[in-house]
Order: sequence, then structure tokens, then C-alpha cells
Amino acid sequence: MRDPEGIISALRQADSVCICTHVNPDGDTIGSALAMRLALLGLGKRVNVFCQDKVPDHLAFMPGAEKIRFPEENTESYDLFLSVDVSDLRRLGTCASLMAACTRSAQMDHHGTNPGFTDVNSVDENAAATSIMILEQLKVMGVSISPEIAICLYTGISTDTGNFSFDCTDAETFRAMGELMEVGLPLADLSMRLFRERDKAQLRLLGRAIENMSFEHDGRISVMSLTLKDFLDCKALSEHADTLVNFGLETIGTQMAVLAREDSDGRVKFSLRARAPFTVNDIAESLGGGGHARAAGISMKGTLRDTLPIVVQAMKERIEKQK
Ligand code: 5GP
Ligand code: MN
Repeated sequence: MRDPEGIISALRQADSVCICTHVNPDGDTIGSALAMRLALLGLGKRVNVFCQDKVPDHLAFMPGAEKIRFPEENTESYDLFLSVDVSDLRRLGTCASLMAACTRSAQMDHHGTNPGFTDVNSVDENAAATSIMILEQLKVMGVSISPEIAICLYTGISTDTGNFSFDCTDAETFRAMGELMEVGLPLADLSMRLFRERDKAQLRLLGRAIENMSFEHDGRISVMSLTLKDFLDCKALSEHADTLVNFGLETIGTQMAVLAREDSDGRVKFSLRARAPFTVNDIAESLGGGGHARAAGISMKGTLRDTLPIVVQAMKERIEKQK
């Protein structure tokens, strides 16, 4: 349930706010955090934004991105801890330690699997993006939406809706976009930057992933995997694999897609996607991950060889159950 009044009252009592984002940050968590940061700075509060991981290069253009710090750099305490777009405590990664430096906690999020891990929880799984909830929140607070705030919110909304194409995209999405356009959002420039240009390293990695793509279950499941060696050979970072799973789902006849990538810490990260009416959040949850109905993720300890068959088997079973 969205709780704009609860968030307002938590913010009203706070002169200082620590905003936290999720691990492997995406456009929605960074956009939400930076929009909220600008709004709270405008209200005269002391604000810092934290992320366990580095902001991906393709999101570094957002106003204030250079101010985002690693949790271990923090030396201050705060009246309020505010997490944005973080589905559970584990997804905070090392940012979870900052809760201890804060008097109270609140969160804004749109994951159905969110257990409500803060004092004030504004969570709505029907919001297409957390950034949409932030826009509504700022309006209720009487904050005027600056072009800089609009850039952050657009980034969150457009990336979480697959550039306005996933089935979470709804009328509220376009109403929000109308408001961002009214304040001068440079849509064409940003859309080019986010959706129509790529790093060479990402293209090399895409080549690898597609070369290795295989199909299971009569072609209904597409499987891609990337090893640490693939990343090294392509001079690519983990962030360069972030949207590649969608290419698997684009294959005609595919109902689910998985991309598995080896992490440097002895874990494998899985990105799962499904076409309607199939769902993957249930698979992710049953294996210790989470996410949305058609876009979910898991991080498992072990090797690709040990973990990938477990995930693919769970996908097969899910398809059989849902068909
Ligand atoms: P992606 O595959 O793009 O990394 O993530 C897709 C969705 O699943 C996102 O909404 C993300 O928050 C969620 N997600 C990804 N990995 C994990 C994970 O390890 N645990 C949980 N709980 N959610 C995840
Ligand atoms: Mn999101």
C-alpha cells in the first residue's frame, strides 16, 4: 500500500536523511534516490545517497550520480533511513549496515515480494516503477518538479517499463510522463542515451551470449550464460550484461529466458524473464531470489555447472504447471 502521508510525516521529523539503493543498481533505484535527494536538498535537509555497488557508466549522467557513496565511506548519522526500490533487506547489501546509523527507517518500493522491513513502508506492486511513486510523493509534498528531477524520474520510469513496453506500463505511467514533459524533459536525447546506444564491450558480450544461446523444452526456454572468462575476453563489466537476457526472450516461440553470469565472489547471478501469461518471480522466490512477475533475479553460491541446471529445471516445471 502506498503511504505518502506516512512518508511525509517521517520526512517532516528528519533534518538528515540517508537514502539507500539496491545492489547491482538499475535506473529505477538510482533515479528514485537522486530525485528524492534533489527534492530534500531543496527543503534544506542534509542528504547522502549510498549504494553497495558502483553506479553503472550508462546511468552516470543523472544529476547527482557523482555524489553517490559506498556505505563504508559514511561517517555521519541521520534522522531517517530511506530505501528506494529495494525489495528486501538482502537487496540492500552492505547498505543494510547504515540502518544502525539512523534513528528511524522508511521505504518506497514496488515489489510484490517486499516484506515491509522498515518502520514506515510505502510499497505498491501496481506501480510500474518506484520513480512513479516518488513523483506522486513529491507532488503531495508540494515540491516543484525541476528539469533535473524530471531527468532522474524519467530514467527510472523508462528503464523499468522497458521503454514503455512491458505489461506493467499503464495509464499512470503516461500521466507521469506528461508531467515530466511539461517541465522540459529532453526526451529524445535521453532516450538515445538509454536505449539506442551501447558500449563496445556490451556488444562484444552480447555476441558471446548469443553465440552460446541454447534452447530447452522444445525451444520454450532460452538459456544464455557468461563466464568470468567471457567478461575478461570482452573487457566487459558485469553491468554490461544487465539487459542481455531480453535478447533470449525475443526469440520466436520462447516463453521464458534466463541469463546466468558468474560473479567474482563465487556466486552466479541469474536474470529471469517471461512472456505473459508465464511468471518467473515464483521461481526466483523458491530459489532465494525475488522480483516482478515477468522480470526476476536470483543470486546463488556455486559454479555455473552446478547451479544453472537447477534454475532451468525449475523453469521447465513452472511452464508445465502454468500451461
Ligand atoms: P535483473 O534480472 O534485471 O537483475 O532483475 C530483475 C528484477 O529482479 C529486478 O526487479 C530486481 O530487483 C529483482 N532481482 C534481481 N536479482 C535479485 C535477487 O538476487 N534477489 C531478489 N530478491 N530480487 C532480485
Ligand atoms: Mn524498480
